[in-house]
Amino acid sequence: MSREERDFNIRPEEERQAFLEQTWCNECMEVDLGMKNPKEYEENGRVFIEGECLKCGGTVVTEIVDGVDEEEDMEEF
Ligand SMILES: [Zn+2]
Repeated sequence: MSREERDFNIRPEEERQAFLEQTWCNECMEVDLGMKNPKEYEENGRVFIEGECLKCGGTVVTEIVDGVDEEEDMEEF
């Protein structure tokens, strides 16, 4: 399993805000509680943001689905 760190801060502020708000916490069993201290990383070709739940401080992970604006350029593997 390889994990590659990415820079969350290069994303547009709007995007960052959305990812920080749209969360799912396994501890609280609630959506959109928000997260802090976000870290972005790539694992097995998928991108995730990991942070801490604003309510309980537990680990929150969100998968990022990229490439929405590249639909004409899709390649199949
Ligand atoms: Zn929580």
